Amino acid sequence: MESLSDQSVLARLVEQVYDSVLVTETQLAAPGPRIVYANRAFCRKTGYSLEELIGETPRILQGPATDRTVLQRLRQQLLAGEAFEGSTVNYRKNGEPYIVRWSISRLEDAETGQDFYVSVQREITHEIELEHANRRILESISEGIVGIDPAGRVTLMNPAAERMLEIDRGRLLCEKTWEQWLDPLRRARIERPLDAVMIVEEVDLLERIRGVMRTGVPLADQRVTVRHSDGSTIHLEVSAKAMSIGHGESMGAVIILRDRTEQRVFERELWQAANHDPLTGAHNRRFADDILAREIRRADTGPHPLALILFDLDHFKAINDEFGHHVGDKVLKSVVKSVRSRLRASDYLVRWGGEEFALILPDTDRRGAVSVAESLRRQVERTPIGRDLDPVRISLGVSQYRMGEGLRAWFRRVDDALYQAKSNGRNRVEAA
Ligand code: GH3
Ligand code: MG
Ligand code: MG
Repeated sequence: MESLSDQSVLARLVEQVYDSVLVTETQLAAPGPRIVYANRAFCRKTGYSLEELIGETPRILQGPATDRTVLQRLRQQLLAGEAFEGSTVNYRKNGEPYIVRWSISRLEDAETGQDFYVSVQREITHEIELEHANRRILESISEGIVGIDPAGRVTLMNPAAERMLEIDRGRLLCEKTWEQWLDPLRRARIERPLDAVMIVEEVDLLERIRGVMRTGVPLADQRVTVRHSDGSTIHLEVSAKAMSIGHGESMGAVIILRDRTEQRVFERELWQAANHDPLTGAHNRRFADDILAREIRRADTGPHPLALILFDLDHFKAINDEFGHHVGDKVLKSVVKSVRSRLRASDYLVRWGGEEFALILPDTDRRGAVSVAESLRRQVERTPIGRDLDPVRISLGVSQYRMGEGLRAWFRRVDDALYQAKSNGRNRVEAA
């Protein structure tokens, strides 16, 4: 069997390899190094026969789209005795351009001592086109995509992600760590409706993404709100998946950001409409049903005092009759505003009907509720409404929930107390 060191075996091997191989002499001055050999793949790729190539220079491959800076670099590196690697556009014999990646190294013929350049080339037109197509997809999709490598560098960030995270385009990705790039996610907020109340909490999404990279457990669509520098907010759905490279000792990640601002604003409006009275902005009955059910469950099972105040505007019909419905509406709004200003965050003001309101006071006993009621009565009585309008007055009924009595019985007691307040002269508080 022929040995590999046999020249003719090596020559046949080069002749048959997939990559194009070109050998030239080494004089770089014009008209350039003369071609002394090209393998079969080179001829096939360029469309030239070996006879046509011999004696020519690689310039016959160049054309208008050939990158002159790459050729300059090639020349400099070869003159400096270094190997070269690069890519550019070459042209086939029929004028068709193709993208090639090639390397050149110097080879000395051991027998004659003559030097040659050996150039190994591969067409990468398809790969480059694919890469461009992929980049166009990344740039056109509305999802934000951020790729992080295991060393913590951002290797990919599309325009949608830049917009969502307010990242200044045109800066090099390697300039900062992924945590610096994604800093807005450090102070994200989660808002979610729970039993008709909007719960808001701060989250550090960077910590969660760090967790994804540590454990490999993906982060499923996390709804967060991020504040932009102009004060506006953007609602995002963020998911992250670990990308393990090598043997998985360290992991990078792909983060996907979806802008859900429109949906969230719409959802919030729906939620607002479903739970609030449009005129005064106080909660509505539907909301109150949920909250009362929840608070009664709590009061039935533990030592949690729960109080209710029911109040009604005094002689409100007369205001409507004298000044018109429009002014009546203004009075209702003014009373709600004034009452609200004196409530704790945990209290709920409900427009129970017409000009009648309920106040649900968790963790409040009868005494506490009476004192709240008295303070509200005085507050409303002192609040001016308009230039020609005397302050309005309210009558209030107060009651503390009795363990096990249920909503209906409790409500009857507080309603009776309000009736008492009315019949005892109005602008006063009565407790059941
Ligand atoms: P009292 O002191 O006994 O409560 O007397 P009142 O006049 O306040 O009682 P009444 O129940 O007779 O009148 C309530 C009035 O509230 C009648 C109704 O037209 C008016 N009202 C109910 N809802 C609204 C509203 O949304 N806007 C306006 N402007 N008026 C309303
Ligand atoms: Mg009234
Ligand atoms: Mg009434």
